[in-house]
Amino acid sequence: MDIYFVCADCGETYDPRTLLWRCSCGGLLNVGEYTVSFPIHEIKKRAATMWRYTEALPFSSSIYEQLTMGEGYTPMIPLDSDSPHILLKMDYMMPTLSFKDRGAAVLIAKAKELGVTHVIADSSGNAGTSIAAYASRAGITCDIYVPASTSPKKLKQIKAHGATLHEIPGSREDTAAAAIEEVEKRQVFYASHVYNPFFYQGTKTYAFEVWEQLNGDVPDAIVIPVGNGTLLLGAYYGFRELLQCGMISKIPRFIAIQAEGCAPLAQAFDAGKKQAEPVINSGTSAEGIAIAFPARHRQILEAIRDTDGTIITAPEQKIEQVREELANKGLYVEPTTAATYAGYLKYLSHRTDSVQMMNEKIVISLCGAGIKAN
Ligand SMILES: *Cc1c(COP(=O)(O)O)cnc(C)c1O
Ligand SMILES: [Zn+2]
Repeated sequence: MDIYFVCADCGETYDPRTLLWRCSCGGLLNVGEYTVSFPIHEIKKRAATMWRYTEALPFSSSIYEQLTMGEGYTPMIPLDSDSPHILLKMDYMMPTLSFKDRGAAVLIAKAKELGVTHVIADSSGNAGTSIAAYASRAGITCDIYVPASTSPKKLKQIKAHGATLHEIPGSREDTAAAAIEEVEKRQVFYASHVYNPFFYQGTKTYAFEVWEQLNGDVPDAIVIPVGNGTLLLGAYYGFRELLQCGMISKIPRFIAIQAEGCAPLAQAFDAGKKQAEPVINSGTSAEGIAIAFPARHRQILEAIRDTDGTIITAPEQKIEQVREELANKGLYVEPTTAATYAGYLKYLSHRTDSVQMMNEKIVISLCGAGIKAN
């Protein structure tokens, strides 16, 4: 299997062994297309983890066996008995309690395969935790940069995995800049969930699972949080591969959720623009999606439009109340995930075609566990 990176701007290709994190032109790197397949009868016989889709993952070895913690194949359950069409994808049921394990497991397995011994990453919390956990399992030294304002429980979780934690004052963007400076200065592997395209090869499995759990069908829509777009883009690539292989006949509409206080993608989408402009984060409890200027903004906007989807901003004053509502249904999630559900409720209230809506199958992503937050 020949895996290569391709620049989203100029088309230049690179061998992943170069350890570059972006093109010499400054463009973002993607994984070049490779042949994938979904031998469903074989898949069904395999363990209930994301690795059951091995023919659609960029590995020619089983190196992942050294670090897998059984991540993926998370349950999909009805919201409640009154709403059998509304399904919750329980992606907080992961080894480090967020969906980021999908991406981190693939990214760190790739780093291991490439012989990497030290990685640096920056994160608003959950990605850092996940990278730290898989790096420690793989015997890779790990430095994680986080905003000093990150939830104390997430900081504790990162440290527990033996990573060196760097708490950076200022914004999420200041944190990324500090990490990149170290990456460049010390020539360390940048295990960024934003820039490293292998991360998205892991989050692809989200789409594969939804498809398999619906017995080869797809929902009408999926509700998905978007900050840097690592789950959104991965899910999009996953559904596209299923479509290209003839396993499905359409891609679900993507209903992307941003936080009211930090919504650069929603603003660009509403204005009909192909690219976002940086915004000032005016404050939100949904720290996991508070990204003032997501690097992959063009790709995210293009993906949402391609699915005939939309972007909704979650009302800040509803987040805590909705978090309680979910907890009353037995679901204890972090505020970012409550925001996803609050965004979905707002989307519902704006729809006028209630009869059609009643029959639609919708999958909502529950991405982060409640005990991660205060
Ligand atoms: C990371 C994260 C998000 C947002 O994912 P992006 O890749 O930034 O779009 C949403 N919810 C939770 C719980 C997260 O950890
Ligand atoms: Zn380029």
